[in-house]
Parts: sequence; C-alpha cells; structure tokens
Amino acid sequence: MIDLTEEQIQRYSRHVLLSEVGVEGQRKLLSASALVIGAGGLGSPVMFYLAAGGVGRIGIIDSDVVELSNLQRQILHGTSDVGKSKALSAQATVTELNPDCQIEVFDQRLDAANVRELIQGCDVVLDGSDNFPTRFLVADCCRFENVPLVSAAVLRFEGQLMTILPGVGNPCYRCFIPEPPPPGMVPSCQEAGVLGAVVGVLGTLQAVEALKLLLDTGSVLSHEMLLYEAIEGRFTTVKRARDSACPLCGDQPTITDLVEYGPHCEVELPVGGAE
Ligand SMILES: [Zn+2]
Repeated sequence: MIDLTEEQIQRYSRHVLLSEVGVEGQRKLLSASALVIGAGGLGSPVMFYLAAGGVGRIGIIDSDVVELSNLQRQILHGTSDVGKSKALSAQATVTELNPDCQIEVFDQRLDAANVRELIQGCDVVLDGSDNFPTRFLVADCCRFENVPLVSAAVLRFEGQLMTILPGVGNPCYRCFIPEPPPPGMVPSCQEAGVLGAVVGVLGTLQAVEALKLLLDTGSVLSHEMLLYEAIEGRFTTVKRARDSACPLCGDQPTITDLVEYGPHCEVELPVGGAE
C-alpha cells in the first residue's frame, strides 16, 4: 500500500477525518481503478468526484466530440472545447483538478470487440451512456468479468440509478430489464430533452455509490432501484430481486456471451470470440 504524502494528507483531509475513510480508505481509493463509460452529462460529475476524491486510475471512453448543445449539462467541457474530443477534454479538466489521478483516455466507440479488455481488472464501472445497446453490452460484460457496475439513466425531469454486483444471488441488469426495449419505446434526451441539473444529481449519486464500493463501506443500491422525480422533488426506491428466469443470471441462462445490439436494439450478431 502506498503512503500518503504531506500534500495528500492535506488534499484529502476531509476524507481522512471520516472514520469510514481515514488514511486507510484514502490509500484504497488511490490504489483503485474505475472505468467511466461516456464523458457526457452523467460522466461529468462522475469524473469530477472520482478525480477529486483521489481514485488513482480512471479510464474514460467516449468517441464523440463536444457540441454546443452538450454544454447545458456536460460540465466537464467548456465553450472553447467545442469540436474537440470529449475524452481528451475530460482528461484535461480532471488532470487540472487532481494530478494524483492517472486518466486513461479511450477516444473510441465501445463495442463487443473492445469492451472486455476495458472492463477486465477494473474495480468498478460507471455507465453514463445514453443508449440501450451500450448499457446492455456493459452490463453483460461486467457480469462475465465479475466487476461491479453503477448504472444510471435520465430523461426530462427523471432519473434512475442502480448498482449491479457480480456473484450468485445478486440481481443483474437483465433481471430488471431482460431485453432492450423496441425502438421508439423510450425516447432519448436528444428527442425529449432533459434538465441539466437532474443529470448532475444522478451522476453525483453514481460517484457516491462507486466510492462506497471502493471503500467497502456502507450499503449500495444492489437490490433496489432509486428513482428521482425532480419535478415533485421526490426520491423513491423500488425493490429488485434476482429472477430465476433471467436470460443472463437465471437458472437456465440463454445468454452466455456478449451480444451486440444495433442502434435500434436489434441483435446484430453473436460476438463469441470477438477478441
Ligand atoms: Zn439476471
């Protein structure tokens, strides 16, 4: 385990003061690795708080460039970043915040060919993607690689959050949503809009869940889904349980390898042995 420097003791003093963190917990964070899917609205607070909190290695994958319409909620990026790679812009922002963190940039599209390599060996994955094909690919891969996943989604004034733990008995993502919804069922933020600050709330909650997992403290939303209805100012939780008929983690699973869905959630191809 690494020793904290004088500067680190100061930087993380408010963490060190917490009995649930302390010097030991801060060392854990500095030795931990997280992968963030998407440097967008959810990925922004996630990256800020993981980096500020001293998570030692943070991978960020995003193939998009910053657009003017992103700046209403994607607070990692500024006006002068428009047209630049989101992943590189994210790296520049959080490196300035905390040079203790090693930020690994993957300026590429996440797909079935690279997802395993990215997720393998991570301590936690935070999914801030905005589409079902990516969410299912990430959730399936986390299950196969035994990596905890913190998943969030937002639309209009609403957000939802769940933490998916690997291992027998823990409900997986597909226990809750067995298959991606048909195209047109769930509109995107691009189609339906979203209040920027609501995305910030959900991304911040993702960071909190991940930090608790990395510190091995408290309990996480592994058997519940948290719902935030901002228009009413209300948080509620919905119970989640393992489904013995789940196609991924059930008694007779039908999904035993990564599945790549097309942009409209049709199954494109089984990608066994893609890597
Ligand atoms: Zn399941």
